[in-house]
Amino acid sequence: MVTDKIIRINMDGTNCYLVKSNEGFILFDAGGPMLTDKKFNDRQEELVIALEIEGCFPGNLKLIVLTHGDIDHVYNAAYVRDRYNTKIALHYGDVSYVESPSISSVLESFKFRSISLNFIAKLMRRYIHNRSLKALAAFRKFSPDILIDDKFKLSEFGLEADVLHIPGHTDGSICIVFQDGSLICGDTFFNMFKPRIAMNACDYEMLDKSIKQLKNYNITTVYSGHGNPFEFQRVSL
Ligand SMILES: [Zn+2]
Repeated sequence: MVTDKIIRINMDGTNCYLVKSNEGFILFDAGGPMLTDKKFNDRQEELVIALEIEGCFPGNLKLIVLTHGDIDHVYNAAYVRDRYNTKIALHYGDVSYVESPSISSVLESFKFRSISLNFIAKLMRRYIHNRSLKALAAFRKFSPDILIDDKFKLSEFGLEADVLHIPGHTDGSICIVFQDGSLICGDTFFNMFKPRIAMNACDYEMLDKSIKQLKNYNITTVYSGHGNPFEFQRVSL
């Protein structure tokens, strides 16, 4: 079941999700250039058009929630905040990624569990490094207006959904569970090639441990940072 409450904005690589709350709209992730894509542009124009089509304009975008601090999810956040005069919320664990990013922080989650992907990443190291430098040079640093911790509640923005701290892909990764079981998961799960747990992460031990808390929820459809939505039962945990 794909809920129509969660609107996917496919930024041609990274997904953003727009959700209507009782008070306006909430945007989950802001997109940006992906290190591995050919176009390598910020896609800000595409994002604004997609928001307009859904009726989201300055005044009714109440919040931008960032699922984690990776550059392909946060790159446009400062731009959207200014244009829509809104606020940014990010978990405190990932603040350094947006306030004082460095080449090592950009590449921190580029550790793959699969030996073959690690090998490919090693072969592409120079390319990935150069792309990261390019993204970093143009990145608009910012400080989040709201630091997400255990007390943070989306209900204050008119949305009944739980925010869970799921460290692993990054220290400050979060997932959002909606009342119908839909899950916005950032890069905790991927749907590239097939639905699976993050292909790359800062800390796999922590990732496996923190994913276990999702078993307490009746999760239905997963809206991941990359790829099409999928049914949670298709992931082997
Ligand atoms: Zn990503």
